Amino acid sequence: MANVIEIDHPPAVLVEGGGVFPVRRIFCVGKNYAKHVVEMGGDPKSGLPVFFTKPADAIHLGGTIKFPLATTNLHYEAELVVALKSGGENIAPEEAGRHIFGYAAGCDLTRRDLQHKCKDAKAPWDIAKALDDGAVIGPITRDETVRGAGTIRLSVNGETKQDSDLSNLIWTIPEIIASLSTFFELKAGDLIYTGTPEGVGSINIGDQVRIEIDATTPVEFNLVSRP
Ligand code: MN
Repeated sequence: MANVIEIDHPPAVLVEGGGVFPVRRIFCVGKNYAKHVVEMGGDPKSGLPVFFTKPADAIHLGGTIKFPLATTNLHYEAELVVALKSGGENIAPEEAGRHIFGYAAGCDLTRRDLQHKCKDAKAPWDIAKALDDGAVIGPITRDETVRGAGTIRLSVNGETKQDSDLSNLIWTIPEIIASLSTFFELKAGDLIYTGTPEGVGSINIGDQVRIEIDATTPVEFNLVSRP
């Protein structure tokens, strides 16, 4: 059967060394570095991992991004992104590593003003997090190991704003995969944004943002006004 309408090409991410990784879903972890939880006014020791999602077509491969609609407080959040080559449900933490295809440097763009409004209203965060072009990601580096350490840094116009280490993750990569797989049957093509360290802040039209994570290709983007 033929499609009855045409849509853009399905979301995909480049793979370092060649090839394309098709994106199935984008899961994100909130509140996963203690100092960031504190800067957001929370308690790092409480509760289960916080999960939310972005639509797969929020993927943006870096370069020029139109300043998002409906915000006057757009925040950057540097994050390690885990790409899955397989999945399952109720995955044990010790089995989680074999589902990893590789890693990428990413940025979880957030309309912080809308997030505060949603939180105040006890409403879902979707409009704050699921924005167009809101899941920036660099090329995926194939790496099937479980990464437990390595620098994660973000700069705006050359000035370092976030500088931490993956060893500061509250929920480790195997723990994230295991926990997420109790709620969703994970599948090949799923991406997981693993949370951001402290130092988040706002960015504006004209700003140039760069995210660097150890053993991963850096990703950069700049914000321009909407035409
Ligand atoms: Mn985030």
